[in-house]
Amino acid sequence: MSVPTVSTDNGVEIPQLGLGVWQIDDRIVPEVVTAAFEAGYRHIDTAAVYRNERGVGQAIAASGLPRDELFVTTKVWNNDQGYDATLRAFDASLLRLGLERVDLYLIHWAAPKRDRYVDTWRALEKLYADGRVRAIGVSNFHIPHLRRLFDETDVRPVVNQIELHPRLPQDELRAFHTENDIVTEAWSPLAQGALLADDRLGKLAAKHGRTPAQIVLRWHLQLGNVVIPKTQTVSRLAENIDVFGFELDNDDMAAIADLETGERTGPDPDIFG
Ligand code: NDP
Repeated sequence: MSVPTVSTDNGVEIPQLGLGVWQIDDRIVPEVVTAAFEAGYRHIDTAAVYRNERGVGQAIAASGLPRDELFVTTKVWNNDQGYDATLRAFDASLLRLGLERVDLYLIHWAAPKRDRYVDTWRALEKLYADGRVRAIGVSNFHIPHLRRLFDETDVRPVVNQIELHPRLPQDELRAFHTENDIVTEAWSPLAQGALLADDRLGKLAAKHGRTPAQIVLRWHLQLGNVVIPKTQTVSRLAENIDVFGFELDNDDMAAIADLETGERTGPDPDIFG
């Protein structure tokens, strides 16, 4: 299974579909990531706060895959925001991963009440300038947070990883990303499984001979999103990556747009952190 890539503004190719590993225990994550590599995944999304970077690193080391074929993302947690603390947190993440650099480093949440994301971003700029990360971006940033980085710092984020699924399609933020050459990366792309029992998705699944999860993932890909569905079920690893051999038509895309409710699975980025 070969996954197409999306290019960032600084010329880095991100496999459009990867494996998210939040809530996979560090002891189990090596076998899940190993199975993912066997199924064709080359992009892994972790974070310091997931407490499984060590297990992800073990699977990478054991895989024997060339480093330049893998795309590894990790994130600085809210408690480590600030210039010096972020540089230390990055070193600790690299050590746990057993890597010399990561492909994408993200500020996990804007955490606006802390008011440290600008200094945190300056630390990411330094890591980028030093060649220790191929691309830098943010997660859970709203338009005013992004505009503040544009105004007060030098390098623009090339990715914003946000909660995005048919219930919360994030049209306004996606349009802003497009205008500003920021790749939209969708977390909780399946709304944590909550919407998969919806009859309307069931009908589309039957029409295409696919599963509801495959329909939702295909919708993301056709919108141009990078997606990182999480599963620790081996059969679902194969199911979730097998989404490149069919297409949704305009009516299908419109039927999925009808699932919008505005409901989040996670907290509001204006408040959290
Ligand atoms: P997802 O939308 O990926 O849903 C995961 C859930 O759906 C799990 O319960 C999984 O079960 C189930 N599932 C997966 N595939 C299928 C399938 N084919 N059929 C039925 N059920 C399925 O939610 P997440 O919240 O985990 O988001 C994905 C990733 O996004 C995270 O792992 C993380 O990397 C990232 N993330 C980032 C955040 C951020 O703040 N930046 C916040 C939250 C997530 P099972 O595992 O049992 O198979």
